[in-house]
Amino acid sequence: MISTPTVLVIPYPAQGHVNPMMSFSHKLVDHGCNIIFVNSDFNHKRVVRSMDNNNGSSSPIKLVSIPDGLGPEHDRVNLGELSVSILSTMPSKLEKLIEDLQMNEGIKVTCVVADVFMGWALEVAKKVGIKGAFFWPAAASMFVLQYNVPKLIADGILDTHGSPTSTTKTFWLSSCIPAMDIKVIWWLNLFDSLVQERLFEYVLHCLRDSDNVTDWWLCNSTYELEPQAFSCVPNLLPVGPLSRTCDDNNKSVAPRSLGQFWEEDLSCMNWLDQQQNNSVVYVAFGSIALFDQKQFTELALGLELMNRPFLWVVRQDPNCENKIYFPDEFKGNRGKIVGWAPQQKVLSHPAIACFVSHCGWNSTLEGLTNGVRFLCWPYFADQFFNQRYICDVLKVGLGFDLDENGLISRGEIKAKVDQLLDDENTTPRSQAHGEVKAQHWRKRCFFKELKQVSYLVETLNCLLMNK
Ligand code: UDP
Repeated sequence: MISTPTVLVIPYPAQGHVNPMMSFSHKLVDHGCNIIFVNSDFNHKRVVRSMDNNNGSSSPIKLVSIPDGLGPEHDRVNLGELSVSILSTMPSKLEKLIEDLQMNEGIKVTCVVADVFMGWALEVAKKVGIKGAFFWPAAASMFVLQYNVPKLIADGILDTHGSPTSTTKTFWLSSCIPAMDIKVIWWLNLFDSLVQERLFEYVLHCLRDSDNVTDWWLCNSTYELEPQAFSCVPNLLPVGPLSRTCDDNNKSVAPRSLGQFWEEDLSCMNWLDQQQNNSVVYVAFGSIALFDQKQFTELALGLELMNRPFLWVVRQDPNCENKIYFPDEFKGNRGKIVGWAPQQKVLSHPAIACFVSHCGWNSTLEGLTNGVRFLCWPYFADQFFNQRYICDVLKVGLGFDLDENGLISRGEIKAKVDQLLDDENTTPRSQAHGEVKAQHWRKRCFFKELKQVSYLVETLNCLLMNK
């Protein structure tokens, strides 16, 4: 008889990493584990604030935090600076936290699940004699890319700073995965070369001793979705798609999701209830993407022009210097605007017709598992890869074309929404195929997800018994 395992879960301090690891933590709780969920102090405050006036305090997941080394006013959107600061601050703080949990609260951590982007945490775990697993929050194909970086450098495709060494447009990672385009290398899509270099070196550091610290690699994806990538790395265990609305056994979910950095505006659910099925364009760009004023104006006027109901998430970031304004011509009569939506619930609402998305991996999975079609508007990092996957491989979405000024114009927005939604009648084969495929995929993933998590917990229990 073994005692209940206590799993310490540590995500990179960004919403798109916290959410899948929180969903994963809920699955582990459902399978009998205790969870210590470690946020940065800065994000911990936001998470606690977003839970005000709801039942978050009764959660079975213990929320704790350690500092990321930056001051309260610091711009954490600069992922280069954030990562450098994490590395110099967090490892010693994590070690102290694990010690304090045991000394002060009698909590013995039995396993650490670390985001690959916090890979150093498994070095800390190994030092204090705790086993651990890596968690990859993005597409398995992106993991294959990341894992093969030393090979790409050795083959002369990348230099030691992660930049391509020649003008070659495509490269091969392995015979079991198609050639990749240089444009999908996530760290080359970060706008700023210093950020690119810092983040590239940070992730290399996180993975430098990976084979010695764990044999367990978990990924928020499924074999059905990315068979080729998973067959390239047989050790990578698919535990996705991780979502909270389709909880195990269809248990009812809490009104607000634990782990959100902003308070969810639940009024949009009542608004959705009043819209016709399959009529609303949902527009959301995740937690990091920013617009300049010109592009924001085109988007606002494009939504107006399309003359359909829309639900638009416009984040309010008090620390952000990028202030934007709604254009005077924008009335928004057919729309609902919120600062932060309960996205997983929104996407499962029957009123949603399509998702104008930046194609973050979580948004991608959340749209796919709800059978929603996409209009892809990638912003940075792996989102360009995800867009290609949605449009070219799964064929459940369309991209936007830029105009001569490098903008997605209001006319283009209206045209693509019309093409995606109206063409159902004129091109039934391709559209219907996409729809059926997405629906079919949703069902399969749900059952697969349950199996994978059960398998993981069984493995976890075996591991603890063998200790
Ligand atoms: N999200 C949300 N409400 C919103 C917008 C986004 O709950 O209004 C959630 C979304 O469900 C997803 C996460 O925030 O789980 C964003 O992750 P993603 O990987 O899509 O993008 P990122 O924020 O990392 O760019």
